[in-house]
Amino acid sequence: MSSVPLQPDLHNLAVAELAAKLAAREVSSVEIAQHFLARIKQQDALGAFLALDADVSLAQAKAADVRLAAGERTPLLGVPLAHKDVFVTRDFVTTAGSKMLENYRSPFNATVVSKLAQAGMVTLGKLNCDEFAMGSGNDNSAYKPVHNPWDLSRIPGGSSGGSAAAVAARLVPAATGTDTGGSIRQPASLTGITGIKPTYGRCSRYGMVAFASSLDQAGPMARSALDCALLLSSMAGPDLDRDSTSLDLPVTDYATELIAAGADKACRTDPKSLQGLRIGLPKQFFGAGCAPDVLAAVRAALAEFEKLGATLVDVDLPLTELSIPVYYVIAPAEASSNLSRFDGVRYGHRAAHYTDLTDMYKKSRSEGFGDEATRRIMIGTYVLSHGYYDAYYLKAQKIRRLIAEDFQKAFTQCDVIAGPVSPTVAWKIGENAKDPVASYLADIYTLSSSLAGLPGMSVPAGLGAYGMPVGLQLIGNYFKEAQLLGAAHQFQLATDWHMRQPQDI
Ligand code: GLN
Repeated sequence: MSSVPLQPDLHNLAVAELAAKLAAREVSSVEIAQHFLARIKQQDALGAFLALDADVSLAQAKAADVRLAAGERTPLLGVPLAHKDVFVTRDFVTTAGSKMLENYRSPFNATVVSKLAQAGMVTLGKLNCDEFAMGSGNDNSAYKPVHNPWDLSRIPGGSSGGSAAAVAARLVPAATGTDTGGSIRQPASLTGITGIKPTYGRCSRYGMVAFASSLDQAGPMARSALDCALLLSSMAGPDLDRDSTSLDLPVTDYATELIAAGADKACRTDPKSLQGLRIGLPKQFFGAGCAPDVLAAVRAALAEFEKLGATLVDVDLPLTELSIPVYYVIAPAEASSNLSRFDGVRYGHRAAHYTDLTDMYKKSRSEGFGDEATRRIMIGTYVLSHGYYDAYYLKAQKIRRLIAEDFQKAFTQCDVIAGPVSPTVAWKIGENAKDPVASYLADIYTLSSSLAGLPGMSVPAGLGAYGMPVGLQLIGNYFKEAQLLGAAHQFQLATDWHMRQPQDI
C-alpha cells in the first residue's frame, strides 16, 4: 500500500457521500479502498470476510479512478463494497460458506456482481455466510462464525451475517446479500443496518449459488435506505437469457426517486409527510411470540410513522404460523435438488480415498457438506419421495398459494405491512447449536413474505434488550420496492437509529 495518509472518518461516510467526494475529486477510489482494507484487517476477529485480495481490489479502484479522471460521473463509481460469498466471482474464490467449494474459482461473475462492477463499484472481498445460505446465525459457516459488532459474543444473524457485520462495523459502506427466507432482513435487523429483499425476480439469480430457486433473491445491505436505493438501481433488471425467472420490467432509478422526494445526498433534509400511507399491522406479528423489548421498539417506530402522517390499520395474515412448516418443506425440497450437483464429479470436493463410484459419492458428500446442509438434503429428499410428495410437498405448495392470497387481501386495506423482523434481538453464539428448530422458529416474521415473493426490508428502529439493535420490517406489494424505500427514507430523515454504531469498532 502507498503512504497516503488515511482519512480517519472515511468509513463513517455513506455511499452517497463517498460518491460525492469521489466526484469532486477530493479523494481517490484507491485511497478509499486502502482505508477500508486497513479497517478490514484491523477487525479480522469479527470473522466477516472469507476472501480478500488487495491487489485485485486496488486494481479495480485504479480503473475507477481512470474513469473519474476522464469525467465519468455515475452514482457508484469508485465506491467500495463486498459480496456475500454465494455470488460467484472470477477474481475471488467463492465457497458459499461450504467446504464443498473450498478454493472454488468461478470462470464468470454473477450478474449482480457484473452489474455493480460496471457501475464502477470496487470489490473489497467476499463475505462470510451460513453454508449455502442455510441458517439464521451465521454459525453454519464451515469456516468460522461471524461476531455481531454490537456484542462479540452474539450472532450477527444469518445467512448474510458477514455482510451485516461488515456494514455495521463500517468495514464496507455497503454489501450484497441474498434472502431466501429472511437472510437479508434478519441480519440487517440484528446489526442495526438497512437491507432490502426486492420482489422475487427483480435481481438476476444468475451466478448466485442456488439454495431454493423459487425463493432466492439478491438485495443490498447498507446503512440507509438511500444507500440501498443507490445499489438496488444498479443490481436490478431483467437478465432473461440467463435467468428466465428474472422480471422483464424496467428498473426504477430508486435513488433519484428518493432524492426527488426530499433527500439531499447526505440524507439530511427534513422528512416529507407520509400522509395517505396506510400501514397494515398483522395481529399475528404482534402476539405473544415476540419479545417485549422488540415489540416496544417496533411500536415506537410505528408511532414515528404516524407522526409523519401515515395511518395504522389492523390486518389479518391468518396463515403466518404455517409459513414455518411450509417453508421448511419447500426450501429443503429445492435445496436437495440444487445440491445434487455437488457430487465430487460435476462440482465440489472429492474424497481422497474411496473404493468404488458409490463410495466416492458418499464420502465426497459426507465430507463436503456440514450438518445443516445434510439435514436439509435429508428432509428435502424425504418430502419429495414417492408416497410423501402429496402429503408434504404438494400440500406445502397449496398453502404457499393461500399465504400469497392472504397478503393480497391485506393489501386491499393498506399500502405496506409492518412488524418486527425477528422475535428477539441477536442471541448468543452457540445458543441454538443443538436445536435447529429453535432457529427455524425465529424466522416466523420473514418467511411468509418470502413464500409470497413480496419485497421486504429491515429498517433500524431502536435498541432492545442488552442494547442490541431492533429492526422494523416493511413488506410491500409486488414491484413496490420504491414505496418501501421511500417510506423507510422518510423515517430515516426523522430518526437517527440507522446512524447509531457499535462502540469500540
Ligand atoms: N433462516 C432461513 C433458513 O435457514 C433463511 C435463510 C435465507 O434466507 N437464506 O433457511
